[in-house]
Amino acid sequence: MDNIIKAPFTKDQVKNLNEFQSIGFMHPFTCGNDHSGDNLLVATENGWVCPTCTYTQDWAYTSMTNVEIVKESFFSTDFGKIYKEGQEKRNRNNNGEIL
Ligand SMILES: [Zn+2]
Repeated sequence: MDNIIKAPFTKDQVKNLNEFQSIGFMHPFTCGNDHSGDNLLVATENGWVCPTCTYTQDWAYTSMTNVEIVKESFFSTDFGKIYKEGQEKRNRNNNGEIL
């Protein structure tokens, strides 16, 4: 289905992976351990780390390393268009001004 890359990641891959984590419409990578607190994995050049425990992960989907393409392909779908409209509405106040 999707190709996989293994750590170490390049600086550019780290930047894209962390942007992917906050993209909102894709499910982010989370810690494999069951605990309370922050469990959103953080990409580093040596792989993913959990901000709360010692969990690490050494792979990512290749598609996650180009956030611009992820966004473009999502926003070109019908659902993506609706999502984007909703997002733009949420970013405006009741007078229609962009916040
Ligand atoms: Zn954890």
